Amino acid sequence: MHIPARILHAGTFEVSHVEFECTRCGHRATAEVKAYGHGMATAWVAGPEVAERHAAVDARANAKRTLRTARCPSCHRRRPGALLAFWSPLAILVVSAIAAGFGFAYLPAVIGLTIHDDGMLHWLMPVLLGGSALLVVAIEGPMRWSRLDKRVRWIDD
Ligand SMILES: [Zn+2]
Repeated sequence: MHIPARILHAGTFEVSHVEFECTRCGHRATAEVKAYGHGMATAWVAGPEVAERHAAVDARANAKRTLRTARCPSCHRRRPGALLAFWSPLAILVVSAIAAGFGFAYLPAVIGLTIHDDGMLHWLMPVLLGGSALLVVAIEGPMRWSRLDKRVRWIDD
């Protein structure tokens, strides 16, 4: 019997209510945060509803993360380290891509394959993968950063 190991994906935009407390002025507020979530499930283990549930959980986590970097409605400042918190996952992405590039470059040598002129491969793969990740981050990063505060709507209490 053949069981297809299909991966199910689900994406959702959710509006979550998140509590906010400013670390600079102590202001407390509730916000509606619009965030995207992505979920996965393996088809032979679970149905699409599991992927959708994971996506909703991810969206809620993203909403909380978004609010941690948002501007305070009272003092209009961001918490210390907000910039770092925003950019560090993107920096990790670039570093991982470079590491993966080195992995691919040295894989033939590790498994005993001899490739003619593998010296070029050793620098080309990390540069290629790292470069494309950097390009994605350079385009996507500032765009996400500029949209950040637009996804937050403060609710008057
Ligand atoms: Zn504040």
